[in-house]
Amino acid sequence: MTNESSNINQETNLAALDIPAAISVSDLANLMDVNPVEVVKGLMRGGYMFAVNDVIERDIASIVIQLFGFKANPLEDTVQTLVSLSVGVENEDPNEVAPRPPIITILGHVDHGKTTLLDSIRKSNVVESEHGGITQHIAAYQVNHESQIITFLDTPGHEAFTAMRARGAQVTDIAILVIAADDGIMPQTLEAIDHIKAAGVPMIITITKIDIPNANVDNVYRQLSEQNILVEAWGGDVIAVPLSAITGEGIPELLENILLVSEISELKANPNRNARGVVIESKLDRSRGVMTTILVQTGTLRQGDVVVIGDTYGKIKAIFDDKGQKIIEAGPSKPIEIMGVNDIPISGSIIEVVKDEREAKDIISKKSAQALREGITLQEAHSRNISDSIRHVDLIIKTDVQGSIDAVKTTLEDLNTERIKVNIIRIASGGITERDVMLAVASKAVIIGFNILPESGAKILAKQEGVEIRHYTIIYKLIEDVAKALEGLLETEYQEIYTGRGSVRAIFSVGRHTKVAGVYVNDGKVTRDSSVHIIRSGKKIFEGNITTLKHFKNDVKEVANGFEGGLTIENFNEFEENDELEFYGFEEIYQ
Ligand code: GDP
Repeated sequence: MTNESSNINQETNLAALDIPAAISVSDLANLMDVNPVEVVKGLMRGGYMFAVNDVIERDIASIVIQLFGFKANPLEDTVQTLVSLSVGVENEDPNEVAPRPPIITILGHVDHGKTTLLDSIRKSNVVESEHGGITQHIAAYQVNHESQIITFLDTPGHEAFTAMRARGAQVTDIAILVIAADDGIMPQTLEAIDHIKAAGVPMIITITKIDIPNANVDNVYRQLSEQNILVEAWGGDVIAVPLSAITGEGIPELLENILLVSEISELKANPNRNARGVVIESKLDRSRGVMTTILVQTGTLRQGDVVVIGDTYGKIKAIFDDKGQKIIEAGPSKPIEIMGVNDIPISGSIIEVVKDEREAKDIISKKSAQALREGITLQEAHSRNISDSIRHVDLIIKTDVQGSIDAVKTTLEDLNTERIKVNIIRIASGGITERDVMLAVASKAVIIGFNILPESGAKILAKQEGVEIRHYTIIYKLIEDVAKALEGLLETEYQEIYTGRGSVRAIFSVGRHTKVAGVYVNDGKVTRDSSVHIIRSGKKIFEGNITTLKHFKNDVKEVANGFEGGLTIENFNEFEENDELEFYGFEEIYQ
């Protein structure tokens, strides 16, 4: 491997990949679009024994990818690309890349004026459609300010912003945080700040509603300073633009500043490659079929292109711009609506041009095999960044009362050393919401509820997305677990909880090998997911899990005290009459 890799190293024009500090073998395979088993084999050739689900360090990943014709981008670029997923130009020929318009999302507290601002910018700057008439709005639009184009996402709020990131697509280049001059910083303002920070995108603040009598811009600046955000007017470096979406005052300044930040960010893309973009939203139109609003991130999308979008595909029959005009192609940062996708893809799905429909089907079947999203638990947190010189655990913490925040925060931060770090992405009081879960997905963080439980929607979402929510009532236990996670020592502890008892009254044969015990439950209950201790003559002779539980002929979830049921036990068929069975459930222990 050493020889091989150094040979390859000499080649300078290998396609470059962004390799994070740690990556699972399957994700790495996915990045290269090769079979994970081939990557395992490649690793073996280099003397590394890893399985498909193992997480490997960047250094090792950087070597093995060379076997497949890739090289790793320098780490600085990787960080950049994580911030701006899939719009990076690091892999592109520098001669091909060109500046592209910035993509803007507006966030902030409800009723602070996000929608009004978006409407006002759209109305005042969009060139009227040549054909006039009413055009349907799509969820993103472009404006022209002093001959420069800016793309606005018309899905305000951090739900959409973070949901996209959670799907692996970051479309926003600059986040606009809206704060109403009369209302000041509100809970969702703080939440939005956390979401923006977690995404690592530049932020411009706008103080809206300056036209109303009790507007107090200075008060907002003061509140911001309390959050350690110092605006330029207060000697800091955060851009803040006071404006009114009603009178239009301040809007040109906002657009000016967007262009300024965009220039500093040097946003670029290669228009001369196959297009890649992100789905903003998609709907079924009765006459036109599936209409999908997308933002092209790189390349140029053309009518007739075959695309894969998430787990569906299609041949593009028509492209419409943000004013509903039919166009035949769309370059980087352009929001468009496309017709011809077979199924409705979810927002945040990546759209990619492929050679033909056969290739599209092929990619989709491969993808579905690897579709499991990588959840993160406190146990796994340590292994994610094993190769970092600094280990960190990313946390989102919700507490019951505001008063606990400082205590939890400072005690956790006390754990920080030069090599290990607790990274608190968000800490706030109040229930654990779906937004917190999406932020956790997007940031690969673990959620901790201190004296607070998740709302039911959040619980369901967390389960779907594989996000771990831990619940603590005692601060030292929370600290202890986080400390263990930092050291990679944490294991979930389970304890057995006695649920009931029964005795074997009869034994039946089912098929040639399986024996069913007819059991009378004489205390508590037995549930389908119980483990069973089998006791004969006062001694435990076996411990195992129930495989089936029936009441008469029906499969049941539980059989209660005073009833009879039939059960089978994994790997055990030697029942005898009068065997005593003790049933146990499991509970994760957090104190
Ligand atoms: P969102 O929930 O953040 O999207 O807030 P909206 O855009 O729906 O605005 C909430 C309310 O504030 C609406 O009644 C708007 O008309 C009003 N509003 C928004 N911006 C301004 C502004 O600059 N000046 C005044 N006077 N009212 C505004």
